Amino acid sequence: MLPFKLVYREEYYLPIGDHVFPSAKYRLIQRYLADQGIMTPDDLLSPDPATDDDVLLVHTPMYVHKLKTGTLSAREELELEVPYSKELVEAFWLQAGGSILTAERALQDRVCVHLGGGFHHAFTDHGEGFCVLNDLAIAIRRMQKDGRIVRAMTVDCDVHQGNGTAAIFGNAQEPFPPPPAWSAGLTAPRRPAHMKQGQIGDVFTISLHQENNYPAWKPPSSLDVNLPDGTNDDEYLAWLEKALVYALEQFEPDLLVYVAGADPYREDQLGGLALTLDGLLRRDELVFRFARNNSIPVMATRAGGYALRLEDTIRIHANTVIAARQVFKG
Ligand SMILES: [Zn+2]
Repeated sequence: MLPFKLVYREEYYLPIGDHVFPSAKYRLIQRYLADQGIMTPDDLLSPDPATDDDVLLVHTPMYVHKLKTGTLSAREELELEVPYSKELVEAFWLQAGGSILTAERALQDRVCVHLGGGFHHAFTDHGEGFCVLNDLAIAIRRMQKDGRIVRAMTVDCDVHQGNGTAAIFGNAQEPFPPPPAWSAGLTAPRRPAHMKQGQIGDVFTISLHQENNYPAWKPPSSLDVNLPDGTNDDEYLAWLEKALVYALEQFEPDLLVYVAGADPYREDQLGGLALTLDGLLRRDELVFRFARNNSIPVMATRAGGYALRLEDTIRIHANTVIAARQVFKG
């Protein structure tokens, strides 16, 4: 039995056929965790789909109407990079509901892990890059609407920049000061990456990603860490820690939303970073420990993962649960 809940439903399967996105992965992660004796059925929470009102907290009425009536233009369908169907739309409404439930439980229990979600490439008025709805933004806006939180921080560790999330929350106010030099016990990585600051609203968005990768246009997050090709475990972890420490100096969130993409893995088909399985596990532990040490409730979602061997993607995603157990036990 885990010291927190996992949010999952059998219907998380995305009906997209044979695709680089392994749509059966949610079921496989759940099965792996059960087979390894890491979780029992009692650890699972089953979400309901988001309501249209929830979805409309983030997405435009026009886009929602097009999704529900199957009237996306040919270009809009192409941009999704997954085949449109009514079932696909229903799966995304369900996954958005899953992220809402995950946020609620994280606020109640300190931590909750969603075995789905993390669709960070969806914008208010269109979807792209396999992402139809931005479940992260929907969950945050719903928690704000319910008065459960005022401010949230997203920590997006998918190999691809969280362009949709950055654009959705990038509508505000004052720029903040440049990050400090390497100090305070942080060791500078050998090779340069660069940090770029955007603006602070009520949601502080952090994205660590490979610079030379999709999306070509990267709307500014509150904090972008643009990593060079081939960034390894130690370099990545140093940047992640620096980003988290720096962000917390600027902003105190009521909820941390961790996007635990599996695609910074060195054998990923759509990624060009060089993290190992162990490095990704240490990444997860670092984020959870940061949340715990600073008493910030944390929810984690999946996101991308396109390893040459599907079992590696499943293992990386399952390891996020193991990392959370390690940090939050007792
Ligand atoms: Zn990705």
